[in-house]
Amino acid sequence: MNINFDTIFICLVIGLLFSGCETSTATTQETNETKIEQQNSLAVSNTTQPMKKQIEVDPTVSLERLMGKVNEKSSGDLVRVDKHLTTKEKLYVHKDCYEAFKKMHAAAKDAGVHFKIVSGFRSFKDQKSIWEAKWNGRRKVEGQDLSKTIPSPKERALKILEYSSMPGTSRHHWGTDIDLNNLENSYFESGRGLKEYEWLIANAPSFGFCQTYTSKVNSDRTGYEEEKWHWSYLPIAKHWTEQYDLRIDDSEISGFDGAASAVDIQIKEKYILGIHQSCL
Ligand SMILES: [Zn+2]
Repeated sequence: MNINFDTIFICLVIGLLFSGCETSTATTQETNETKIEQQNSLAVSNTTQPMKKQIEVDPTVSLERLMGKVNEKSSGDLVRVDKHLTTKEKLYVHKDCYEAFKKMHAAAKDAGVHFKIVSGFRSFKDQKSIWEAKWNGRRKVEGQDLSKTIPSPKERALKILEYSSMPGTSRHHWGTDIDLNNLENSYFESGRGLKEYEWLIANAPSFGFCQTYTSKVNSDRTGYEEEKWHWSYLPIAKHWTEQYDLRIDDSEISGFDGAASAVDIQIKEKYILGIHQSCL
């Protein structure tokens, strides 16, 4: 009995000091996440911006959801895009992004500018087939079979990463990010494309959208090259970027050819967080 009381007493004291007794019943994942959370809050408190909000684990967003290991049914948040708003036969996006896009689409139409979604949600599986086709040379990159021309895994991954994400790291996994009208920057530099791009720059932020991959010229932004077509719905995507940063490490990105280079490349720091400052 005495030992039990002692144990309870010690636990209570330690508990009061560190609030740690309850965590013994938590799962390993939760414990790890708590540790990361504590490290994160320590890191925040050591910065010169003490007012920065503390990010906490959001249990409503699973690691599978963040890494695109879902489909349009199991996600619980994806909806099918109406045919007149997309160039694809079947396309899904996050429901909140879709509502915002429909409003933006209507406003643009009034101004004589027309948008269609070229790409939205892509699953881990979809991204794996794109990535591995480029990795193994079945799909050429700038006319090259990269499996022959770039033997170094890190260098080959960096080449593919100019425009394609590693499976598990794409914002398209979330359905919050959409590609509009055309997948060439040159299209948006004159005529109709320029008018569309100028409209987006002036108006998309008021509907919640942000261009994540802006020009890297005269900028310290890392990661993907400029994509004038890629717009992110921030009310959801900002929160999910923070959750990804808090809960997933480079070493956990796996399950496809060439995955080992994720750690070498610092995929999270350089690519997932390599977005324009105003989208963070
Ligand atoms: Zn995109």
